[in-house]
Amino acid sequence: MPTYEITADLLSIANRNLSWLFTEDFKTEPLWWDLVQPQRVQATLPESADLVIVGAGICGLSAAMRALDLGADTVVLDAGPIAGGATSRSGAMVSSAQKLLISGAAGDLDKDIVADLIDEHNQALDHIKQTKARDGVDTGFQASGRLFLAAAPRDVERFAAHARILRERGGMTARVVEARDLGGEIDTSHYHGGLLVEEFGGLHPSLFANSLAANIRRRGAILRSHTRVIEVMRDGNAFLVKSSSGTIRARKVLFATNGYTDTAMPAVRRRIAPVGSFMIATEELGSDEVARYMPGMRMYSDTKRNLWFFRPSTDGRRILFGARPGILPRDPRNAAVHLHGFMSAVFPGLKATRISHAWTGTIAMTRLHVQHIGERDGVWFAVGCNGSGITIMPWLGRLAVERMLGHRNAPTVFERIPFGMMPNLAGLPWYVPFAAGYFGFRDWLDRKRAGL
Ligand SMILES: Cc1cc2nc3c(=O)[nH]c(=O)nc-3n(C[C@H](O)[C@H](O)[C@H](O)COP(=O)(O)OP(=O)(O)OC[C@H]3O[C@@H](n4cnc5c(N)ncnc54)[C@H](O)[C@@H]3O)c2cc1C
Repeated sequence: MPTYEITADLLSIANRNLSWLFTEDFKTEPLWWDLVQPQRVQATLPESADLVIVGAGICGLSAAMRALDLGADTVVLDAGPIAGGATSRSGAMVSSAQKLLISGAAGDLDKDIVADLIDEHNQALDHIKQTKARDGVDTGFQASGRLFLAAAPRDVERFAAHARILRERGGMTARVVEARDLGGEIDTSHYHGGLLVEEFGGLHPSLFANSLAANIRRRGAILRSHTRVIEVMRDGNAFLVKSSSGTIRARKVLFATNGYTDTAMPAVRRRIAPVGSFMIATEELGSDEVARYMPGMRMYSDTKRNLWFFRPSTDGRRILFGARPGILPRDPRNAAVHLHGFMSAVFPGLKATRISHAWTGTIAMTRLHVQHIGERDGVWFAVGCNGSGITIMPWLGRLAVERMLGHRNAPTVFERIPFGMMPNLAGLPWYVPFAAGYFGFRDWLDRKRAGL
């Protein structure tokens, strides 16, 4: 096991003596919420609607925007606060199809499907970049560029092929950064090279979601938080959407519930693995100090199967660090100890830096590591972010609504990919910790083989 993991485990055991690690105002909620808190919205529910969307993250809210464009009267319901799921807990690093390449997902799919996926992901990226000018929705997008970091030397060889695909098919300025040149981008000896894409960047996820929510409410959509959908039943040529706040008769229903999908949509629940993802924010370091560690001020993530990802905060004064840190779910404070260990492995100078925020959220993994749109018994869904949904999930919601409302006749690529079942035992995702453990072992093996 790598020393930083052992260190993190020991630190975890000694957690009680680690109060120095946390600032006096330490919070177990996202840094983003300091600027915009997920909201409680208690609109009166109508008896009927053209469309009910279940889930008010960026997928459901973007779906609602598109539905309003197409003239549908729309209701959006969420079991918790608006955008309180993965959306406002995100690292919010914006990119496009590179995940298909880096995760190896593209290797399992037909060539035509991959080409269509890359095309949709590129359109999703343009959509995010243009949304402020076109719709007045504020994303807080910063075109910082994104650097993918090689955890093992052989990953750099793969980067050359990925850069070519991104250049040729995506029109991106993607290039390999050799280990010897990495210092201009990041102050670490932990990695062996990088793949830099200038067009990618980062945004402020709760600002984005809040601005989307304000936009759809202004345009007449009904939005209600703290309202769990319990069941959807067919009623003639429509549906009865039974929720904790009452029943609505809807012509169409869309589940945009991603990693939080529950028994209200069992067919989807059986096809996704809900996986915890964790983040911390450092105390204020100041922009000079952050730029010392991250001279490129990019968005960063690595090639580990249990990946690490990090970025400057939007004001450039803190470092945010994320991972899927372990075999068993941990509370954010315990996870923070691990993340601090990982962060110190990348930036040893941060060993004595304190943590001001630690939080967790749930993402949806799928068998083929791609997103899916589809319907079961007439009820639609748009899910499967696979850890990288801040760009693609809004687009997925829009596409789903275009299909549902007859604006788009041909099935999208996301409907053409088989949506396979996940292992299922008593409805519990029991395999997730085992998979995380196995991936951690493979990551360790890769580094061992490379003599690291
Ligand atoms: C820690 C973390 C870091 C991440 N970093 C990045 C990153 O850097 N880049 C990137 O691209 N992506 C990242 N992601 C992923 C990204 O945030 C998600 O893909 C995206 O936010 C998913 O949006 P969504 O709207 O599909 O789902 P969510 O925002 O999760 O919304 C789903 C909603 O459905 C609601 N719901 C579920 N069931 C019901 C029900 N029965 N009734 C009513 N409501 C229901 C939930 O309450 C929830 O609010 C990260 C995620 C996490 C957790």
